[in-house]
Amino acid sequence: MNAPVHAVPTAHRTRIKTIGVIGAGQMGSGIAHTAALAGFQVTMVDVSPAALDKAVEHIDRNLSRQVGRGRITEDQKDAALKRIGKSSTLEGIKDVDLAIEAATEKEELKRKIFADLCQVLKKDAIIATNTSSISITRLASTTDRPGKFMGMHFMNPVPLMELVELIRGIATEPDTFSTVRDLAIDLGKTPAVSEDFPAFIVNRILLPMINEAIYTLYEGVGSVEAIDTSMRLGAHHPMGPLELADFIGLDTCLSIMQVLHDGLSDSKYRPCPLLVKYVEAGWLGKKSGRGFYDYSGPKPIPTR
Ligand code: NAD
Repeated sequence: MNAPVHAVPTAHRTRIKTIGVIGAGQMGSGIAHTAALAGFQVTMVDVSPAALDKAVEHIDRNLSRQVGRGRITEDQKDAALKRIGKSSTLEGIKDVDLAIEAATEKEELKRKIFADLCQVLKKDAIIATNTSSISITRLASTTDRPGKFMGMHFMNPVPLMELVELIRGIATEPDTFSTVRDLAIDLGKTPAVSEDFPAFIVNRILLPMINEAIYTLYEGVGSVEAIDTSMRLGAHHPMGPLELADFIGLDTCLSIMQVLHDGLSDSKYRPCPLLVKYVEAGWLGKKSGRGFYDYSGPKPIPTR
């Protein structure tokens, strides 16, 4: 039996009408897909033209998959694609009501983006960051509008995952929070509020588990296959932790562990040296074709 056809809301609770998404990687493209399908006008910005092209292809493929499953109609797919624009500079999103930053998880890089963005973005626009772990208050302080800044943390893959974590910085104004919360609901998501502590709620719990799975591999307790099979069948996790690490991106996993380690100063968050080595090698998981699995063939093959 097919799932019910997705209803595109005609009226939105939020006053946001146009959205800019900075970073067109796996998260940025998922956010653009979800927002366009829910009736919002979206422009994706990326420094890499290839990433922008890949993002549009990716969204097209994922929308087609939803059509194939009877979740949306062909007309809804076409309308969503028409609502998505792309730009290689931040100028392209200067008039949006909300800019969602979803670029690489590096504080320096995000700070630079916010500095450049504030030069062009209209003054009453809200800025949200999809950071997985970095202090919202610290990022907000690098902008000209800490009151109009907050965390809006989507889960991967965005079109499928129901949760959005909402994180206020110390200066976030109530109107900013309620506008972004209403948007999360308009996107069909369930918001959960987290305080501004390193990695918030989901990743504070999930990433140490993934890091421990990598230690389990590093210490030779089990192979990649044994660890993932154990957690899938023994703990009923839908994906094994190493498969999940590859899916998230090993660079992102390492950055989150570093933020937890630095921010909470507790050795229990020490990133596993094997995770560090994989990132140094450029083995970033599914997005680079190799991580704990090799994705070059038709079926992922464990690499250890
Ligand atoms: P990704 O590597 O797939 O994509 C990052 C994109 O940012 C790339 O396309 C890159 O070209 C672009 N980028 C880099 N510098 C830029 C700049 N100066 N301006 C514009 N674009 C720039 O990474 P991702 O997995 O999509 O993660 C993006 C953000 O989302 C990170 O903050 C990450 O922590 C967060 N996040 C990731 C996940 C996940 O499971 N991967 C889940 C939730 C949140």
